[in-house]
Amino acid sequence: MESTKRTYVSKLVHDLKPSGIRRFFDLAAGMEGVISLGVGEPDFVTPWHIREAAISSLEQGYTSYTPNAGLLGLREEIAYYMKTQFDVTYSPSEEIIVTVGASSAIDIALRTILDPGDEVIIVEPCFVSYVPMVELAGGVAVQVQALKENDFKILPDQIEAVITEKTKAIMICSPNNPTGTMLNKKELQGLADLASKYDLLVIADEIYAELAYDEEYTSMAAIGGMLERTILVSGFSKGFAMTGWRLGFVCAPVEISSAMLKVHQYGLMCASTMSQYAAIEALKNGRFDVEEMVKSYRRRRNYIVQSFNEIGLECHEPGGAFYAFPSIQSTGLTSQEFAEKLLLQEGVAVVPGDVFGESGEGHIRCSYASSLEQLQEAIKRIKRFIDSL
Ligand code: PMP
Repeated sequence: MESTKRTYVSKLVHDLKPSGIRRFFDLAAGMEGVISLGVGEPDFVTPWHIREAAISSLEQGYTSYTPNAGLLGLREEIAYYMKTQFDVTYSPSEEIIVTVGASSAIDIALRTILDPGDEVIIVEPCFVSYVPMVELAGGVAVQVQALKENDFKILPDQIEAVITEKTKAIMICSPNNPTGTMLNKKELQGLADLASKYDLLVIADEIYAELAYDEEYTSMAAIGGMLERTILVSGFSKGFAMTGWRLGFVCAPVEISSAMLKVHQYGLMCASTMSQYAAIEALKNGRFDVEEMVKSYRRRRNYIVQSFNEIGLECHEPGGAFYAFPSIQSTGLTSQEFAEKLLLQEGVAVVPGDVFGESGEGHIRCSYASSLEQLQEAIKRIKRFIDSL
């Protein structure tokens, strides 16, 4: 028999593009003195009392699995938190599942609702995982572009134009990664009207909900009639500075959440037990910490947005999250060229906007979850870089 080398990797996975962010981390990793505005995580260490709750759970020997949906005590705290902070009501016993970060919440949501070929409308620029996660779940990602001239807010007409009989859901993220744009009640209402007109679900990634700087945050599920159509994804990574704990949650009407629980149960069993004990403490006693972190991010946002505009990189004011998304069009470079040259010439790592979708081209994503001193130094270097062009 003639021997041909067998390929073990599935075609679907083979064809997935590697994340464009990774390449810059790898480049930066081999260099010294780099200031990284590249990573999308808080620069705070998880507050001590939250860490202590995890340690105490270990001391008490709580080292077994929890129920698949998570500790009931944690789900009760999440239900109370969602009601008091965001005015949405979920049943802790039926409509909340504790997940392994917001990432696994998105994953189980997609795998639960998609039949092969079903379409999910994805608003770009967006978090780099959305499109691959839809594809891995057997769906088709239909990308629509939020535009700079609309402050990166998607218009309902743009979404309506791509709805087909196969559309199952619209996926949104507010405040957004990478643009920081936050949708207000009226803008959410426009999308909600479409969802109900075409009988669609909305997967609302609200992982940055705590980090809103100018206006009060509105959850998609709080819009009239949307509780039944929303799969609300959130978690502890950003607002509570708990990225490494891998803890998130997903809330949805019982028909969907009971189905998601099957996927979660077979794939992951449950989230980490000690992280769940830490999260109970975060929700019970972490409000002050969140508010202090928000104040600090707001100060840094104000500084970086003003500085970008002063040095000639036009930057809209992001309402939330911890990313600035300045335009680099005035330099005549593509976002890849800009990011690569800036890294090699001045040792500042940023993420080229095109990795987040077509309309991200011409921009760079800069995380301001770094100390003010680091941000000041980064701005000094970016200015020097621009002047050298
Ligand atoms: N959604 C968005 C928009 C994100 O930016 C991130 C993290 N970068 C995630 C989800 C994943 O969060 P987690 O760490 O909770 O899995």
